[in-house]
Amino acid sequence: MTNLDTLLKRNRAFAQTDAKDKVPAIPFIPNMQAYVLTCIDPRVDPANILELQLGDAIVARNIGGRVTDAVLADLAWVCHLHENKTPDADWFELAIIHHTDCGSGLFADDELRCSFATRHDYDEAALRELAVLEPARTARADVNALLAAPQVAPQVAVSGYAYDIETGVLSQVAAPRTRADNLAVTP
Ligand SMILES: [Zn+2]
Repeated sequence: MTNLDTLLKRNRAFAQTDAKDKVPAIPFIPNMQAYVLTCIDPRVDPANILELQLGDAIVARNIGGRVTDAVLADLAWVCHLHENKTPDADWFELAIIHHTDCGSGLFADDELRCSFATRHDYDEAALRELAVLEPARTARADVNALLAAPQVAPQVAVSGYAYDIETGVLSQVAAPRTRADNLAVTP
């Protein structure tokens, strides 16, 4: 029996519960109307650290929880859906969570990064930018990146957090702001 067999067994048990009966069909609004962007690291699973239940939030994960073109493309589509399919609903709030001891920090390892970039012909400088070494700083930078992105609807409130994998505590490092707030202060 492999580990995946064990997971399939867990699925059968899950299917016997009523969790699946509590989620609406599309178009729908997540129960907590939240959109979380965080790292793929299994130690920072939002289902655990935020106690998210099925249907509570949209969760996007990549290495580091960084704002990438792929993240922006998904957000653009979700915003477009919201405007067209659920125009009367409240907008979701978006949380960017970066964490301590992040494996993306290894993008700062010159030897490791350069050999990887060469191997797959990736942009070495762009990879260096993905490193999360100070989660508070990069979370704030990515909040600013989202607030500058036209793909994000002006009504979406974006906030940033640093998660400490030793204490389990999530700290806010960028208060919620919308692109509309930003546009209002831009001369
Ligand atoms: Zn990570």
